[in-house]
Amino acid sequence: MIRTTRLLWFAAGLTVSQRLIVLHPTHANDTALLAHERCHQAQMARVGTLTFWWRYLTDKAFRQASEVEAYQVQIAHGAKRSSCACYLAENYWLHIDYSTAYALLKD
Ligand SMILES: [Zn+2]
Repeated sequence: MIRTTRLLWFAAGLTVSQRLIVLHPTHANDTALLAHERCHQAQMARVGTLTFWWRYLTDKAFRQASEVEAYQVQIAHGAKRSSCACYLAENYWLHIDYSTAYALLKD
């Protein structure tokens, strides 16, 4: 299920669970973003939703690996690598710079 809400102020999209993706209305038709969120649903299916969220919130390496995989999918669906590297570097509390993020998003 995909829902849109303006209450999502901190991100363009959020995968809540294996069954729920929330998008900000300004990104409702962003198919590359949706592919990113669907990748997170697949990650949740691999380890379980609660385990995914626990590790995502407490383990920087897991969070980084999860986002790198999701951004690679987003790029494969047409998103710009430079934009994705910017988001990856500036969000998610990974403490990496843009060039590191850009390198992580290469094939
Ligand atoms: Zn993500």
